[in-house]
This record gives sequence, structure tokens and C-alpha cells, in this order.
Amino acid sequence: MPRELTTCTFCGVGCGIYLETQGGRIQGAHPSASHPSNRGRLCLRGWHVHEVASSPHRLRRPMLREGDSWRETTWQEAFAYLKRRLGEIVERHGPDAIGFFNAPRCSNEESYLLQKLARAVIGTNNVDHGTGVYVNNGIRALRETLGAPAATACIEDISLAEAVLVDGIDLAVQTPTIGGWVIRSRLKGTKLIVVDARRHRVAEQADYFLQLKPGTDVLLYGAMAKILVDRGLVNKAFLRARCRNYEAFLRQIEDYDLLTVADACGVDPDLLEKAALALGRSSRTVALYGTGSETRDPNSVRALVNLLLLGGHIGREGAGILPLAEHNNLQGVCDMGMMPDFLPGYAPVEEPSARRRFEKAWRVSLPAKKGVSAREFFNSAGSGRFRAAWLCRYDPAVTATFCDAAAALQDLDLVVVQHLFMTRSAEHAHVILPLTAFGEEEVTFTSTDRRIQIARRVIEPQGEAMPAWRQLTEVGKLFGADWHYGSAAEVMEEIRSLAPFYSGASYENLGGGYGRQWPCTVERPLGTPRLFAEEEPSQRFRLTAIPFPRIPEDPGPEYPTRLIFGQSLYYWHQNPLILNSEILRREYRVLLLDYPEGFVDLSREDAARIGVRDGGKIRLVSPTDAVETVARVTDEVRPGTVYVPFFLKSVEQALWRREQFDLGNLSKPVYVRVEKA
Ligand code: SF4
Repeated sequence: MPRELTTCTFCGVGCGIYLETQGGRIQGAHPSASHPSNRGRLCLRGWHVHEVASSPHRLRRPMLREGDSWRETTWQEAFAYLKRRLGEIVERHGPDAIGFFNAPRCSNEESYLLQKLARAVIGTNNVDHGTGVYVNNGIRALRETLGAPAATACIEDISLAEAVLVDGIDLAVQTPTIGGWVIRSRLKGTKLIVVDARRHRVAEQADYFLQLKPGTDVLLYGAMAKILVDRGLVNKAFLRARCRNYEAFLRQIEDYDLLTVADACGVDPDLLEKAALALGRSSRTVALYGTGSETRDPNSVRALVNLLLLGGHIGREGAGILPLAEHNNLQGVCDMGMMPDFLPGYAPVEEPSARRRFEKAWRVSLPAKKGVSAREFFNSAGSGRFRAAWLCRYDPAVTATFCDAAAALQDLDLVVVQHLFMTRSAEHAHVILPLTAFGEEEVTFTSTDRRIQIARRVIEPQGEAMPAWRQLTEVGKLFGADWHYGSAAEVMEEIRSLAPFYSGASYENLGGGYGRQWPCTVERPLGTPRLFAEEEPSQRFRLTAIPFPRIPEDPGPEYPTRLIFGQSLYYWHQNPLILNSEILRREYRVLLLDYPEGFVDLSREDAARIGVRDGGKIRLVSPTDAVETVARVTDEVRPGTVYVPFFLKSVEQALWRREQFDLGNLSKPVYVRVEKA
């Protein structure tokens, strides 16, 4: 059977896989033994990634709304409808009445063209990908402290490290191949430190598991930094040569008293000290952290970077930071400018010189004001401010945890959906454009360690499905744009000319091995596994002086239990790709057979105290509301906390009050009383 090397398109690890084809269908997927990200391993999703293409539920033809249903139509009619309706909305309400949003699953080429359509053709900077959580937790904090909006290390560094710190991510569930790297490194003698509110499978293997109270990680890292400074376990030469703001940082760190912090975090001070000393004695440390949490305080990323800088763990083999992207192209969609305030390559929209470069290349004038985020757009439901949304692979009705996106879509005059399947958001669409699936198109993705890779076309598209980049090209042309892209490779040629760190990333170059890690430039065509490894000492990093944060107040006896919101393995059960793969759907819904209405995690101690058994009904009572749900009794959460997976919308919406979704207020804790229902 013919085999073609490609990349798994489920999560941000970007594992290398071979697809086997026969009779115009993909018959199987097998891991690449020498791909640097997975070295012969795949997780459950990777083994079955190809099943999505052959799902009988694929959308095969464009559809237009007619009353409460849709009718199939031709591409010509669908495009003509789009031109007319978008044109009318721009004329009546202006370009800023439209928002262009995509999922972090979109390829680099379709992301680039979607933001170009919004900015250069329609005239708005209202572009965003998903909820912007990765931007807050990854891109902005790392850009500000290290000067690079991405991982500094590569995945292989996990196996070369003397210490690995894992913060706020259940690796075995979210990015399983990386979980494997961490466990194998631990078995070889690497010290493993896990910081998390939940005792997950990787935490069970840790040398030091700091099961802290939610929202106290800034305190914890501050105390660790103080221990390193007090014991002289810092890399003075590195700090002198490469870091700014050390004096201010030292003054601030004085406030982080070990016993006070340990008490506030709910961890044993001896354990905290031992974990800090293990970090201090390591000459090569890698820190991995989850970027998917809405409630992560951006200062926790800065505090983690501080710890790495103190030991000089940037720019060296076996050292660095890896912000983990759960979706396959989170890094790429950011690199491509799918953000309201950045053009491709992180050129600030509001900076005239940056804008001029794009205006010259695109031969248009661009809007100068930054756009609105997806969060702001979907939270403005009913205000009349927005009239149309373009959604490329994005299903906010299911995934947007910050609002009732279905209601927002219902209010719009025009909803355009590009997808493979009939999603919940597509139910509100006026026009639906069917997309080609994995294996049916040749495009690129950029994984969590900056690796730009080609996903190969190995079979013909089903029905009349069309690649998103081609659909966007056709729409651009209808509006008079001079777009002549004949392939995704030609789109990449333009990206290379505008995003300097992609300048060496031609399809020819990327196809020669296992992709290239950016910066992949003309001068450095093989790419860059580690950032800053060969920089002159003039490359300076920034330590952040973080004021001692307010210790979360004792919630008091009436509402003593804190809710933790986050992803879980069973978050994947509602992913449209999983839902349309027979085996994955079955595997990911297994737990829901026991808890068909969903569940929250409750500790054994708390369950015993209120007399509830596993699977029993409980009531979560907050000062403003109450909601009933089912308890999954487990040792994974500590007493005094309840873990709410994001898919439990009823709990989220009742108890995580709307005002919390304003940026900057996300880490506000929610306390409840747990009762037997
Ligand atoms: Fe695919 Fe991610 Fe699993 Fe690798 S770890 S096989 S990229 S889902």
C-alpha cells in the first residue's frame, strides 16, 4: 500500500505519521519512527486521525439557508450570495460590523488569507482565533519577557533536561506524546516537579508534586525564586550578561516568605523548599505549562520565566520553556496574524511603519485601529453593534466558554460557516461552505515547538468540498482583489515575504524532512530547534518584579469550596472531529456512559462529609445561584475544591458569572457550598 509521511492534525505536538491509501481512501495511520516530535509513538487520536475524512456525515456541497432549513446549491450561487450580503452589510453598517474568526485548527495558509480578506478586502481588523486564551497565556507574556512569542525549547529537550517542571496541564490527556517524553525522561533520572491543583497521571510520577490551592501559583514561584536567590543558586554570569531588571526583581522577591506562601498555597513548606532546591541544582531545566486555562493569571507565566532566567535556562540544550498548545495550529494562527492587534509576523496593527509594509505588499490602505476580539464580539449579542460573522472551522456555540455564542449568532444578519460538518454554530448559518478534510489538501501547520510542517494531500476531496484557502481566494476575487493563488504553496510564498521568521519556509524546504522550526530564514534554511542558542549576549531578557499578590481570602464557612474550571479528557468528546470518527467517539465517550449527564470532580473527603457516593447528585450553591450536577468522586482533586470540566455549560453559565469574562478578571475565584441534592 502506498505510504505518505504527513503530520497529525489533532493537537499541537504535530506528531509525524504515515498514511496508507488504497482505492482512493485512507486505510490506516502509522507513527514515524524518526520524527523528532514522536519517535515512533502516537496517541489514540493520531492512530485514528484519518477516519474523519471518510465520515458519512461530511458536508459535501455548499448550502444556503431557506427559512428554517438549507438547500444545496452551487459554488457560483454561494459566492454570489456572499458578495451581495457582505457588500450590503459593509455599505449599511461599515466593515467593523463584521467579525472574522477561525479555530486554531486552521492551516497557516487559510489563516493568512482569512485575515487578509478581513483587513485588505473588507477593511476591518475584527479578526481573532478562538478565545484568545493562548495569546494571553503564551504569546504576550513570552514576547514581553523573552522577546519571542513562542516556545524557546524543542520537544527533544525534555529528554536532555536534568529537571522538568510541568505546570497546569494533564499531559496524559491533552498532549499524550509529550506526556510520554516526560515519563521516559523521569525514568532516566530527571527530577520531575509538577505544579497543579489536580493529581493527574503525570503528577503521580513526580518527585515533587505541589498540589497547590487554585490561583496561588504566582506566590509559589515567587517563594521558589527567593529560595534560589537566598541559597545562591542563581546563574550570576547569565543574569549579568543577558537579563534586565534584576535589581528591581531582587527587591520585590524579598516579600515572598516561605512559611506564609506555603500556608497560602496549601503545600508543605519542606516539599516546596525541596522542589526549589532541585530546580536550583539543575543545570538544565525545561518548564512546560498548559496554555488552555481561562483562569491562568498572566503573572504566573512571568513568574515561571523568572525561575528559568535565574538559572540561565534559556538558549541551551536541555533547557527552555514550552507553552503547550492543545490545538494543532495555535502557534501558526497567531504567527499568521489571526489577532485583532497584530498583522502576520506580529507586526502591530497600530504601528504606521508596520502597516505601511503590508499596505505596499497588498496594494491597499489598511484600517489603523485594532479590531475587537472574539470575546468582545460574542459578548455583544443583542447590542446591534455587529451584523455578520465569518467562522472558519470555529464552533463558538460549543467551545466559547465566555458567553452564549449561539444567542449571539442568532442575532446576526449573516453567518458564514466553513466546516467539514454540521456544527452547533452552523445551525445558525446563512451559508455553509464545505471544506476538504485532513488528507485531502496540502497545507502547513506550525506545532507547539515552532515546527512548520506540511500536511500532505493523499486522496481526492469528497463531493464538492473545497480547500478553505481556495474558497477565500474566490471570495477575495469577487470583491475585486488581485488574488491569483493557484495552490497553498503560492500562499506560503507570500507569507515568506512578509513574516521574516518564515522567510526560508518554502514547500520544497519543508518537505525535505520533518518540517522546519522557525526562525526558518533564507540565511538559516534548516530552521532553529532552540531559540537564543546562538545569540550574542546583546539579546536581553526581562525579569519581572511581581508584587506579592493578594492571598486569596478565606472563603468562610458558608461557601467554603472553590471551583476550578478547565479542560478534561472528556472535553474531547464534543470535538466535531472526534464525534465524526467512530472509534474515537466511542473511546472518548466511555466515561460518559457512567455519567451521562456529565460530572464534576469531588474529593473523597468532601463526598464523605456530605454523604454522597460516586455518581450521586449534588448541588453547588453560590451566593448568586445554584445548580445541580453529578459528582465523580476521585482523589484527583484536593478537599475544598471541585473541578468543573468546560463542557458542563450549565455549571459554567450559572456560577461563573458573566462579568468574570472581562479580560483581567478571569482569575477571580468562584466559591460554593456543596450539598447532597
Ligand atoms: Fe496527534 Fe497530538 Fe496525539 Fe501526536 S499527541 S498523535 S499530534 S493528537
